Amino acid sequence: MQQRTRGIETSCVQGGYTPGNGEPRQIPIIQSTTFKYNTGEDMGKLFDLEANGYFYSRLQNPTCDSVAAKICELEGGTAAMLTSSGQAASFFSVFNIASQGDHVVAESSIYGGTFNLFSVTMKRMGIDFTFVAPDCSDEELEAAFKPNTKAVFGETIANPALRVLDIERFANAAHRHGVPLIVDNTFATPVNCRPFEWGADIVTHSTTKYMDGHGSAVGGCIVDSGNFDWMAHADKFPGLTTPDESYHGITYAERFGNAGAFITKATAQLMRDFGSTPSPQSAYLLNLGLESLHVRMKRHCENAMAVAKYLQTDDRISWIIYPDLEGDQDHELCKKYLPNGSCGVISFGVKGGRQAAESFMRNLKLAAIETHVADARTCCLHPASTTHRQMNEEELIAAGVPSDLVRFSCGLESSEDLIADIRQALDGINS
Ligand SMILES: *Cc1c(COP(=O)(O)O)cnc(C)c1O
Repeated sequence: MQQRTRGIETSCVQGGYTPGNGEPRQIPIIQSTTFKYNTGEDMGKLFDLEANGYFYSRLQNPTCDSVAAKICELEGGTAAMLTSSGQAASFFSVFNIASQGDHVVAESSIYGGTFNLFSVTMKRMGIDFTFVAPDCSDEELEAAFKPNTKAVFGETIANPALRVLDIERFANAAHRHGVPLIVDNTFATPVNCRPFEWGADIVTHSTTKYMDGHGSAVGGCIVDSGNFDWMAHADKFPGLTTPDESYHGITYAERFGNAGAFITKATAQLMRDFGSTPSPQSAYLLNLGLESLHVRMKRHCENAMAVAKYLQTDDRISWIIYPDLEGDQDHELCKKYLPNGSCGVISFGVKGGRQAAESFMRNLKLAAIETHVADARTCCLHPASTTHRQMNEEELIAAGVPSDLVRFSCGLESSEDLIADIRQALDGINS
């Protein structure tokens, strides 16, 4: 792990790219698929990973690398890579160390897209997952591990369940079994929580959410803490600790050490073969978002707290989940891991069930109905009538999305206007 040498605000604005004399102030968009060399020998050194440089943008591109370096600095990691989406980041983070016949422990309240990736698509690849509740007992957590377990996966703040992960507890359990903890830090962002400081080994992001923050580019990122000692568990991770015959016989953990092995392998193997690379243009847009991430996160949290406090006083609301609220089931974890605020997303129930919630949604004027979250513009979703509409009432409850649930992602507008919008939408139910 890298110690912070400057404030997170400074890293947001200036991290990842330092122009030389007379060079562009803003990160240049290197919109080039390929790079020119004078001799085949020069290029050969790149292929052998003996020299640093670029040859083809499917594997690496300077614009994308500058932005990855910024996110790496924000998280306090030793290496990072951008991916074309958060889904690609989640997939690579696990597939880089687990393959057919292996097993992974995952927390059950993770994002639905990740749950599907793990339980359906990666299961088809022969990787088995055991899901445990975020508040499972120590015995249940312990019992989830198998001799072939290769990683533990969780989300700092689960989307949309808003459960807070006890990162230290899950990291300790993972380390007792000689495997890394991977944490999806999308909702908290490194501004509100840096999982490496609590023992996580790998962090992933959907940069599509707060990091971009303006709904402009889908993207993802993987960051390595450099803390996990692959060689100490060499038998579990042969992909990192034995020669890669598909890549010039390199042994990643030997050549690049704990600081660089994971990301180098993910780039050289997975990006080479799957090609889930972002465009330099998208990386540039992501960087514009990152420059104000620290300012925006504070405001998202302030707005969400104001809205949550209002909802508590309105008797047309049956329940609220926002970990920052006193009395929330995860409030103590929130105080520990997210002392400056969690995120801008709240979920709540509208009295009157499905019909009242649908009517409420129709009446909103400022808050737009979107499947998106974590954006400058307030957006909301009624899962029972949209993303989860194929489920019946019992299935909805089992999935943690009862039919009265509204997911409300507070943007950067005036909190008074957001509250007024909610109030008038509640006033208008069934009228
Ligand atoms: C959206 C999201 C993802 C998937 O990211 P995409 O960029 O949409 O592929 C993964 N994890 C979390 C927590 C998310 O919110």
